[in-house]
Amino acid sequence: MKLPIVRYGDPILRAKGKRIAAVDAHVRELAANMIETMHLANGIGLAAQQVGEALQLTVIDVSGAEDQESTLKLNGTEVDSNSLMPLLLINPELTLNKETTLAIEGCLSFPEITADIRRAISVVVRAQTLEGTPVEIEASGLLARALQHEVDHLNGILFIDRMSAATKVALRSRLKRMQRENAPG
Ligand code: ZN
Repeated sequence: MKLPIVRYGDPILRAKGKRIAAVDAHVRELAANMIETMHLANGIGLAAQQVGEALQLTVIDVSGAEDQESTLKLNGTEVDSNSLMPLLLINPELTLNKETTLAIEGCLSFPEITADIRRAISVVVRAQTLEGTPVEIEASGLLARALQHEVDHLNGILFIDRMSAATKVALRSRLKRMQRENAPG
């Protein structure tokens, strides 16, 4: 089922996600709906906050972005990143490597807004699968960027928080308008 995507201005986007202690029927259904919603919106990632739930759950799928390469090691073994898509992560914990790169980014909660964001080139994420299995994923390229963007969401951090001051100034009136339009009540 396609879920409505929450837009900037809704306070849920600033909520830190609760850890998922046990995967129950609700989490399983939410995860399936998030994957469907992400695909229908042509997104490469979606966090639970973006569909109105403050939980440590995110889905990612970079397989459609053939122009931007990703590398992936699963539990230390290199695998084709597309073979693991869509990727579903529960309670992810991220370690960033020091080297960074600037690239353009968008967000389904900020329609029509894109900006250059500085991110680590590669990351390591430890998380659980829907089956409760712990996994360690080492990623670079677009997948590393998507992981950082989504784990930020799970902690209430948005890509506008990582824009340069000049970009934020340029977007200020649009962001203010979004905040007004999407605020509750
Ligand atoms: Zn986003």
